[in-house]
Amino acid sequence: MSPPQASPLPMDPARLVRAVFVSRPNRFIVAAQGPDGAVVEAHMPNPGRLRELLLPGARLLLAPPPPETPGRRPTVVAVMRGKRPVLLHTQWNNRVARWLLDRRLVPGWGDQEVVRAEVPVGGSRFDFLLRGPQGEMLVEVKSCTLFGGNCAMFPDAVTERGRRHLEELAELARTGRRCAVLFLVHDAEVSWFSPDYHTDPAFSETLCAVREQVQVIPLALSWNARMELDTSRIQELPVPWGHVAREQGDRGAYWLILRLDRPKAVDTGALGTLAFPAGHWVYVGSAMRGLRARMARHLRRGKTRHWHADYLRDAADGAEVLALRSADRRECEIARALDGVLTPGPKGFGCGDCACETHLFFSREHPLDRPEVHRILERFRMTVPDGAE
Ligand SMILES: [Zn+2]
Repeated sequence: MSPPQASPLPMDPARLVRAVFVSRPNRFIVAAQGPDGAVVEAHMPNPGRLRELLLPGARLLLAPPPPETPGRRPTVVAVMRGKRPVLLHTQWNNRVARWLLDRRLVPGWGDQEVVRAEVPVGGSRFDFLLRGPQGEMLVEVKSCTLFGGNCAMFPDAVTERGRRHLEELAELARTGRRCAVLFLVHDAEVSWFSPDYHTDPAFSETLCAVREQVQVIPLALSWNARMELDTSRIQELPVPWGHVAREQGDRGAYWLILRLDRPKAVDTGALGTLAFPAGHWVYVGSAMRGLRARMARHLRRGKTRHWHADYLRDAADGAEVLALRSADRRECEIARALDGVLTPGPKGFGCGDCACETHLFFSREHPLDRPEVHRILERFRMTVPDGAE
């Protein structure tokens, strides 16, 4: 019998180097401060946004470059979330999948053996071909590192490639092939797995549409601080399909995050000219139909000014928008939650139709660099209600 704790990594975890996250200049690079105090650049082998994990001061685990290429950058392997590491290395995620498959540790797949990895089919490549008593099965593996509330979600950034993979698997399934998608969820403290319909509604809708043809297995993995897996705690997570179908529509609330590089006096229309300090302004709005179009409209400059936020948008040096989709109107509840964490902005801003003091909030640093702001996002985006199915 295998020991319950074992490391599936392709390197002795004791050789990983500790570092502190400083910044992420682009998707593929992070700056990190090593044990000697020097800031080094490290390769980031994960294209996700990872905003809730890569907070200032986050602790990283880096793989040093191989001895034969000492000039190369180290590679980020994991980030600590509290006491537990979250595996970020997407190629190693597939090594972990292979390790689990070879040891027959995926529930329900105890009679499947790996025939091949990296299987070309048509113009695509799938991760594994398995063979069991019922024949062969194609498996695509995804790495899930976004969790909060009581739920794990995938993806944390729009993945058109991931969506296309699902459609290709469904197409193959219609020609009689068995197909599955295996999500490795790198946290065991969640009760549910859901497609992230806030960030990538197209992926979410596709996953819901193909689930009769393609087996969907979200597997929660329990890592310890030494980057070993507790093999007795590998667990398949349920997906609240009914809840997802209800919530994933083109409606709900949004945060418009506007950046002012300098303090500015801004004409806000009905509220007159107001002084705005430099920093980040978060406007909470909602659209109970046409949310996507509303969010796109907010990002455009120079449009006909209709809302207070349109005036501030034109004055802002940068703008981004996040969806908090839901079937029910939760805009004011979300504004009240932000009120406890950020500084309330001008009275009456963006709340002509409700009893709130304001729907605009201020933060000197980027709000998504603040863990307490992520707790609010988790509460409104990632909490599956009791009794969901
Ligand atoms: Zn309100």
